Amino acid sequence: MRVVYVDNNATTKVAPEVLEVMMPYFSDYYGNPSSMHFFGGQVQKKVNEAREKVADLLGADPSEIVFTSCGTESDNAAILGTVDSYPEKRHFVTSRVEHPAVGNVATYLTRKGYKVNELSVDREGQLDLDELKEAITVQTAVVSIMYANNETGVIFPVEKIGEIVKSRGIPFHTDAVQTAGKIPLNMKNSTVDMMSISGHKLHAPKGIGVLYIRKGTKFSPFLIGGHQEKGRRGGTENVPYIVALGKACELAKKNMNDENTRVKALRDYLEQKILEKIPNTLVNGDRSNRLPNTLNVSFEYVEGESILLLLSDLGICASSGSACTSGSLEPSHVLRAMGVPFTAAHGSIRFSLSIYNTKEEMDYIIEKLPPIIQRLRDISPFWKDYLKSQGKK
Ligand code: PLP
Repeated sequence: MRVVYVDNNATTKVAPEVLEVMMPYFSDYYGNPSSMHFFGGQVQKKVNEAREKVADLLGADPSEIVFTSCGTESDNAAILGTVDSYPEKRHFVTSRVEHPAVGNVATYLTRKGYKVNELSVDREGQLDLDELKEAITVQTAVVSIMYANNETGVIFPVEKIGEIVKSRGIPFHTDAVQTAGKIPLNMKNSTVDMMSISGHKLHAPKGIGVLYIRKGTKFSPFLIGGHQEKGRRGGTENVPYIVALGKACELAKKNMNDENTRVKALRDYLEQKILEKIPNTLVNGDRSNRLPNTLNVSFEYVEGESILLLLSDLGICASSGSACTSGSLEPSHVLRAMGVPFTAAHGSIRFSLSIYNTKEEMDYIIEKLPPIIQRLRDISPFWKDYLKSQGKK
């Protein structure tokens, strides 16, 4: 069956170049980087090279890169590691639209007796920076606000947020899991203290992540163990995946222009054609501050899950919001926080592209989607009510 994969915010294909460089680290170069002998030493050298490549993509110093097991671990380590460093401070500030890797840490901290502020967003999915200013107190241990939203692609003004947070002397973490590789990042002149990234969102395998920690940031390790990662994260390094992530970052840097021109043009083409061909359709999120690959679109009066299943039958793989919330019939917490009306939030679909997508694939989606929506609307009582209200039937 033909497969059109447009669910790249859920996960990406491992790039063939990445797969090629990582394989020998399972079979030939399997030493432990901490070993004293040459067999470990040669592996340590490759880990360091990968660290340099990751640092290069993020505009960071290699010593500021800590390898973790995934984006979720990076988020947990940044927030809980900082909270642990400031035990007298019992307040955490985040937003209502975070991924569960941050959102559920907020819930955990609330259970532990912390005061938590989850900042609201407007209809475009943007924050009110005055609300942030008001939320911060002397009790705030850390502020964690995502860089770009996984469901809508909306990009927050992270440097402005960081300026506000830093002016109050508080550590600032951002979840850049969806951002790294899609838009340029430069930690050199940044207000960010800590930043999470995840390999499987940028064509490296699942199960490898990074926590960037700016030099001088107070941090207690989340995984307590050996001296690995300069004592910031215990556990023998996942060498093949670290080498893979290094290569993926090198490729991401090379492909950044393609991502922001060709991929963006494909996304815009898909968006324009959908809006043209399907009535009662709206795009969710701030279109002028959005990742180049992401399109979140609501089809009024139909259910996202039904659309997904019919698309899936035709080989088209998309998503109804975050992969972690699919399977639940509740509309996504992100769209609810944005105040997307119930009749539209239920029928929302996320298309997320990658450099491997083509115009021909977009045309396939544009051909197959309108009859699917029409078919579902024909059996929707909400659509019938809508038509009646418009005096159309
Ligand atoms: N943060 C964001 C914004 C994400 O989109 C995801 C994955 O979907 C994560 C964190 C978690 O990353 P991982 O799957 O590597 O744990």
